[in-house]
Amino acid sequence: MINSSLKQLASMLQAKKISSVELTQSFLTRITQYNPSINAYIALDEGKTLAQAKAADVRIAAGNATALTGIPLAQKDIFCAQGWQTTCGSKMLANFIAPYDAHVITQFDQAGAVNLGKTNMDEFAMGSSNETSYFGGVKNPWSFDHVPGGSSGGSAAAVAARLCAAATGTDTGGSIRQPASLCGLTGLKPSYGVVSRYGMIAFASSLDQAGPMAKSAEDCALMMNVMAGFDERDSTSLQRDKEDYSRELNKPQTDQPLLGLKIGLPKEFFAEGLDASVAQVITAAIDVYKKLGAQIIDISLPNTGLSIPVYYVLAPAEASSNLSRYDGVRYGHRAAEYTDLNDMYNKSRAEGFGAEVKRRILIGTYVLSAGYYDAYYLKAQQIRRLIAQDFIEAFKQCDVIMGPAAPSTAFKAGEKVDDPVAMYLQDIYTISTNLAGLPGMSLPAGFAQAKDGPALPVGLQIIGNYFDEARMLNVAHQYQQVTDWHQQMPDLKRA
Ligand code: GLN
Repeated sequence: MINSSLKQLASMLQAKKISSVELTQSFLTRITQYNPSINAYIALDEGKTLAQAKAADVRIAAGNATALTGIPLAQKDIFCAQGWQTTCGSKMLANFIAPYDAHVITQFDQAGAVNLGKTNMDEFAMGSSNETSYFGGVKNPWSFDHVPGGSSGGSAAAVAARLCAAATGTDTGGSIRQPASLCGLTGLKPSYGVVSRYGMIAFASSLDQAGPMAKSAEDCALMMNVMAGFDERDSTSLQRDKEDYSRELNKPQTDQPLLGLKIGLPKEFFAEGLDASVAQVITAAIDVYKKLGAQIIDISLPNTGLSIPVYYVLAPAEASSNLSRYDGVRYGHRAAEYTDLNDMYNKSRAEGFGAEVKRRILIGTYVLSAGYYDAYYLKAQQIRRLIAQDFIEAFKQCDVIMGPAAPSTAFKAGEKVDDPVAMYLQDIYTISTNLAGLPGMSLPAGFAQAKDGPALPVGLQIIGNYFDEARMLNVAHQYQQVTDWHQQMPDLKRA
């Protein structure tokens, strides 16, 4: 049951083979058993969770269940959920109980889904290994010596360890796709503006986007059906008609369901820096796509190599502004002792933020300062436009773009903590998508042998054109019809 798809769970619930309370309880039992070692969840509240499950059972009995009614999900701790501790992985918000629901939380509540708890994450979503969390690192369920990726590392580990049916994540530069890749999941970062950011704690507002992290593309589509949609409380939420993200999945199957699909392979994604064992897995996945009828086209994204430096100007700039609200007065931790107002600000922020967050605030303040704005911030904005333009050109030649989601499999905990640049390079294949506002996803494509350890998951990335999520989900789904990487589960007793 823990490995069932959302669709299978929904039909078991609706056929009354199992109740939501029983299903929820079985996940809670696994959480009690495994969370102390994995640390995927940082807030649990059995009372609240089971009350939602009971309400779901009543709704199912009344015959007005939705596709997700009664299904237990995990929520990244970046989403405000009324009455729940909501920390964003930071000491700054360690005592914050959200007084309202994020749009995403409201949508899941209205669908009747059950909230199992809040998942661990890098502090303010800054990181690629979950090691910047104030609440400690998260273990990769495939190998406890390795990181799960970040910043949505808790959600990724919770799905991989089957401590929930599916979870939410957010992706500013790769934080859904990179942990999905490292933990063997399917994760989608939608086009910018498709999912409302209302009540989602801001990191870099022009890049942040929420999305599903699940076992399969089919599950992601069902999650998207709930998460996506216009919300007037987010000024960047797009006014588009509600769409059914599963619509392409349910067409009659043929031998070559992707006949005519043009897949672009950017040469920049297969150059130096890509682990050879990861490249091998990606090449094998592309071969599967050829069998499914797709046509492969070599493309180039010439400016994509600049995406890391551009991101590390723009994201810190936006973060330094977004994080100015945590001053110990309006929001956040307040130092116990101080001499005057400035001293209180200084001490509260010095105590409340961790090292990576401080590094970003310093960089961001610097690149926005009067003497440097033109040289850094403005320049980065101009290059951002060129990076987006590369994709616009590429999509004249192909329907989707494929490549690796991350340059390597999961690395060992502690391996990159003292080398921020090495950590930043984890997102070399994902960041350009956020800069362009495009949708991107990662799906499990096999395993590669780590240098000195076990075989670990590898993610294939699919990048689509604006608002082409339904097609991307189908492209992933067709692969998952002929492979079973997405169904493989880690052995937690041996991890
Ligand atoms: N790893 C990137 C960073 O540290 C991206 C994080 C994210 O997508 N939230 O900023």
